[in-house]
Amino acid sequence: MSEKYDVVVAGAGVAGAYAAFRLASAGLRVLVVDIKEFERIGDKPCGDAIGGHHLSFLGLRDLPRDIIEGYVKGMDIYSPSGRAKFRVLGEGVEVDRVGLARYLLKRAIDRGAEFRGRTAAVEPLISGGYVRGLRLYSGCRTYEVTSSVVVDATGNARAVVRRLPKDWPVSEEADPRDFNIAYREVRVLKDEVEEPHILRIHVSKTVAPGGYWWFFPYSERRNYVNVGLGIQGGRGYPHPRDLLYRYVLNQRVFDGSTLVEAGGAPVPTRGPLSSLVWNGIAVVGDAAYTVNPVHGGGKGSSMVSSLCVANAIVEALDRGDASAEGLWEANICYMNNYGTKQAVLDFFRRFLQELSDEDLEFGMSAGIVKEEDLNALSLKGELELSVAEKAIRLLSGLRRPSLLIKLRRVVEYMGRVREVYENYPRTPSQLVTWRLEVSELLRDFEERVLRH
Ligand SMILES: Cc1cc2nc3c(=O)[nH]c(=O)nc-3n(C[C@H](O)[C@H](O)[C@H](O)COP(=O)(O)OP(=O)(O)OC[C@H]3O[C@@H](n4cnc5c(N)ncnc54)[C@H](O)[C@@H]3O)c2cc1C
Repeated sequence: MSEKYDVVVAGAGVAGAYAAFRLASAGLRVLVVDIKEFERIGDKPCGDAIGGHHLSFLGLRDLPRDIIEGYVKGMDIYSPSGRAKFRVLGEGVEVDRVGLARYLLKRAIDRGAEFRGRTAAVEPLISGGYVRGLRLYSGCRTYEVTSSVVVDATGNARAVVRRLPKDWPVSEEADPRDFNIAYREVRVLKDEVEEPHILRIHVSKTVAPGGYWWFFPYSERRNYVNVGLGIQGGRGYPHPRDLLYRYVLNQRVFDGSTLVEAGGAPVPTRGPLSSLVWNGIAVVGDAAYTVNPVHGGGKGSSMVSSLCVANAIVEALDRGDASAEGLWEANICYMNNYGTKQAVLDFFRRFLQELSDEDLEFGMSAGIVKEEDLNALSLKGELELSVAEKAIRLLSGLRRPSLLIKLRRVVEYMGRVREVYENYPRTPSQLVTWRLEVSELLRDFEERVLRH
């Protein structure tokens, strides 16, 4: 006979561990499984930066000091030549990523969740149009557990949702061009880092095509830095590790540095999944494509999806209704708190990825977009139409009107996509029509703006 839980969470990275913590705190019977053992939970390459606004929203302001490796006060964004620089102020932390995931999982266990390491989710059990549990594999044995809801938090593996019927919206596959392939190293520098509370991002199509390279100091660990590079997937660009070695690690600041850790992984950088839930199933974190499409940070927003999904499950199970409709509040919550901004930023990401180094240099050095605009863009996903208007007036004499007109149109489309997401369906029955509206807007944007 199979074991029975209220919820089975597959994957105990930050998204799964945080979901399990929320669900167990509400008194549900929760099982969390991961192919990793407890000690290796959270061990996945990362830049380790999390914005303070996410931590506040998630009730994680008081993280234990021993998992904080740096305090962040802002970020400098450099143009391709390095001559133009924007400073975007905003606080956050550099975390010990393994420490964070373990801390969240430990809290879930303390609230009553059961954890099984070295246990793989093999496939969902489906009957009557509902997910009813999971087939698991551990210690050379396959067995089944049943539950009212399964949460897929397996990151890029998408181990559960990818095995669901293709017409369930949670199973939607992403285009390879909507991934960023990122590689990073943790290094100890010979000399102290100046301004260790400031993260650095460098945009350059030559060095990091369709992405950027970063230099994130850990202010609490003398001379430690996280240095990495991401490129757009599906375009045949060189491996990010090769680019990092060719263009970045040969810079003087790395002379005599020692390598502590190295590794990379794909990061989904696209708009949100059209639904985080369906009958008996929910999906969170990278498995649900919840990453910020512009800067690729995904830890904070993955937990926002977990919070929304966990709250919706608690209410749905209270009513005894684990259908898509019963769980729908997860989508409303996610779209209100992050998904709409994510969708807007995804349009901007597509525009940025088409720009040449010359365009980027021009845009940054001529002051088309200023620090305050980037602040609004990163916090709310808003880039004011006035930015484009101002730019066109200011720069019409500077021989780049086509770029400016394009920026104006991008900003208009960002407003339109925001409107569409603000009208996200209140019930699953309206989803098909809404999805058509989104894909038409995107097609229109690609044809009339990007390829123009
Ligand atoms: C190089 C790089 C730099 C990054 N930098 C940042 C940054 O600075 N800030 C930021 O916020 N984000 C960053 N990200 C993104 C961030 O790491 C992810 O968005 C985040 O870790 C997603 O968490 P998750 O819990 O959804 O997935 P994961 O962390 O991938 O967790 C998935 C878990 O599922 C488990 N699993 C997989 N398959 C199965 C299975 N079949 N059965 C059971 N368990 C399974 C895995 O073992 C893992 O523990 C970066 C990513 C990369 C690659």
